[in-house]
Amino acid sequence: MRAVLSTGSNMEDSRAHLVSVVRAFGPEVIAQSSLYRSAPWGGIEQEAFLNQALLIDAPLDDPFTLLNRCQELERAANRVREVRWGPRTLDVDIVDIEGFTSTHPVLTVPHPRAHEREFVLRPWLEIDPEAHLNGEPVRDILARLEPQGVEKL
Ligand code: AMP
Repeated sequence: MRAVLSTGSNMEDSRAHLVSVVRAFGPEVIAQSSLYRSAPWGGIEQEAFLNQALLIDAPLDDPFTLLNRCQELERAANRVREVRWGPRTLDVDIVDIEGFTSTHPVLTVPHPRAHEREFVLRPWLEIDPEAHLNGEPVRDILARLEPQGVEKL
């Protein structure tokens, strides 16, 4: 199953958190983007994020199994946080899965907010210049977006 993942972290060791996802998927990672620094999203005062896109090919039949794997990685990273209910150290979102769509709230694919997020689309375009989202070239969607403070590192 080929899928596009978007990872993000805004803790001091955010590079290490993003690397931990790449390590966990190991040889299933077909491509990984550069790291991008992104202005915080959603109007909450917090550190800038580091973001990355991964193209993976995992021998899984069930997209929900992939979601479980992503959530396990989030949980593993969040174990290191010291403040209860504090900011999350690692987000692993499924952006798209080849040949699969779902509107189920537990797993919505394509990700329902991917089309409005430069920090998702720019890294994705880097590793797949022909990528499409909901039938439209990601390149075209990006061209329409207002700049959102996303910087390639
Ligand atoms: P968040 O806190 O923003 O990471 O959202 C996590 C919740 O979104 C979980 O309950 C997931 O089941 C749900 N979810 C729905 N669609 C997706 C997706 N494409 N990738 C990751 N989580 C998803």
